[in-house]
Amino acid sequence: MSEAPQAARALILFGPPGSGKGTQAKLIQDCLRIAHISTGDMLRERMQCGDDLGQVIKRLVDNGELVTDELVNRMVEERIGRPDCAAGFILDGYPRTLSQAGTICQRLAARGFGWVVVHLKVDYNIIIRRLAGRRHCMKCGAVFNLASNPPKVADSCDKCSAALTVREDDKEQVIRRRLEAYDAQTRPLIEFFSAEGNAFHEVDGAQAAPQQIAMRICELIRNRNGE
Ligand code: AMP
Repeated sequence: MSEAPQAARALILFGPPGSGKGTQAKLIQDCLRIAHISTGDMLRERMQCGDDLGQVIKRLVDNGELVTDELVNRMVEERIGRPDCAAGFILDGYPRTLSQAGTICQRLAARGFGWVVVHLKVDYNIIIRRLAGRRHCMKCGAVFNLASNPPKVADSCDKCSAALTVREDDKEQVIRRRLEAYDAQTRPLIEFFSAEGNAFHEVDGAQAAPQQIAMRICELIRNRNGE
């Protein structure tokens, strides 16, 4: 099923690492045909350049720390101005700090977008299990999970047969640092977005199949559009 949204809206999707933001964003993108903006993907792409900035980003990301607000704000501002965002877009993994949240709300308002905010909640024990089983194809970007979505041939990508790898920041020590960063810097967004004027929803990211969770989020966006 796929349909065009009735009004230009941004979906702000946040939650701890491993809560399924990326999976949900892709399913919702298929359903609503709006752009998917993942700051994590944009940063990993930037890291590949290997220049000074790429190396600074890589050090922070590999260490489970956040990159600067200034850099991600700039990247997102440039991205949401592109034509494919005019009908609406999903922000996956952004904002992650109160300062980023304040910036994006101002920019969305200035561009005439409404927004719906979804916090994906998942127990940290489930997250650690999920992330530790994650395998990535560095060639085509496919993501597998040894527990829930294993590749057909061990350690090999189903789509392009390249070798699968564990992302540096999916190693257990780093996962714990990412969760600490989430608690300290991103969790306060719950209170920020619960404030009046935001359409804020908490969705359990572990109790149902990914497709069912995505349908529920699409419904929240449709209901908001119908206001
Ligand atoms: P993700 O793929 O969304 O889990 O992001 C991977 C890593 O990229 C994070 O652990 C951070 O180091 C960095 N990152 C992604 N989005 C942001 C953001 N909005 N602000 C700061 N750092 C970010």
